[in-house]
Amino acid sequence: MKVSPSIMQIMPYQPGKPISEAKRELGISHVYKLASNENPWGPSPKAIEALRHEISEVHRYPDPTAFDLLATAAELFGLGRENITIGAGSSELIDLLTRLYCEPGDAILTSKAAFISYKICALSSRVTAIETPLTEDGKFDLARMKDILNSQSHIRLVFIANPNNPTGTYLNEAELTDFLEVCSSKDLLVVLDEAYVEFVRASDFASGLKLREKFPHLIILRTMSKAYGLANLRVGIALGHKDEIAQLNRIRNPFSVCGLSQAAAKAALMDQEYLKSVVQKTWREMDRWEEALKKLQLKYYPSQANFFLADCRRNPEKMFKALLSRGIIARTVTNYDLMSHLRFSVGLPEENKLGIEALGAALSEVPTL
Ligand SMILES: *Cc1c(COP(=O)(O)O)cnc(C)c1O
Repeated sequence: MKVSPSIMQIMPYQPGKPISEAKRELGISHVYKLASNENPWGPSPKAIEALRHEISEVHRYPDPTAFDLLATAAELFGLGRENITIGAGSSELIDLLTRLYCEPGDAILTSKAAFISYKICALSSRVTAIETPLTEDGKFDLARMKDILNSQSHIRLVFIANPNNPTGTYLNEAELTDFLEVCSSKDLLVVLDEAYVEFVRASDFASGLKLREKFPHLIILRTMSKAYGLANLRVGIALGHKDEIAQLNRIRNPFSVCGLSQAAAKAALMDQEYLKSVVQKTWREMDRWEEALKKLQLKYYPSQANFFLADCRRNPEKMFKALLSRGIIARTVTNYDLMSHLRFSVGLPEENKLGIEALGAALSEVPTL
């Protein structure tokens, strides 16, 4: 059977190389994964405790309304329960939004070198993905995006990751407000993907929670996969106007987030002290990386997230292998058309130390382009 031509355009998602696979292939016992922007310290101990408790309920279907989790999220974000829903990771929510608002032939607008799922979800729904190139400093080119919005009428959704993955760059409050004003005069929705919002240090950053006071139909995506350390449990959160949330609830699979995940996510959200400690440790380690990158004279984009993108000026596959042979899994980003870059996630102090040494060695080993 032939599959649809728009599906054939999809470059399959390339996940970070699993640790077990690297160990198997290389026959080495110490492998450190700095490739998937996970929280290497893991979740709050209270989330683990909640899992233990919830395990006695595995023979029951999960609560389809996620009552407890939504109540906790509502309180934390200062919203009503009608303004929140969940999905199996924000990836599922991206897919649901695309299916909800786009007909085949419609388009979404985003940037090149933005989270690849926007494009994958669009193409799998027979929707066109329009992508503007990054600006020189690795940001979304909002001026260019505005021009496209003004000349194209079939764009239904605009996806902005803030901070962005894989660049780690961000849009400040003034830039975003100005752009949202243009969007608000059009028949489309803006999705602000805030997967890394917890890590932001920039003082001119504004979260969608603040922006939605002025732009009430903004849809904000949060995830439990990154700072909260629950990537394996698949919990994404959508925040927005009750109308859009109601539509999401109409089509979402009520059981896609299992009870274990709901319980752990609730406990993790409630432990803001623990979150703060993870963020602080991440900042300290990111500072250490930045210092090393400066010493190595590598060009990188200053990051507001728990990862950074560096231009190694070398073949990324060769760099990847040189690092892997030293037990470090980095992430190539050729699927984003970044042909000399690597992305590194901040790991544990010991992992970063080894990562920095391995990077120095790999740079000496692999010839420059
Ligand atoms: C990791 C990431 C996600 C989150 O994915 P989940 O499906 O929630 O694990 C969403 N958006 C961006 C930009 C990401 O980097």
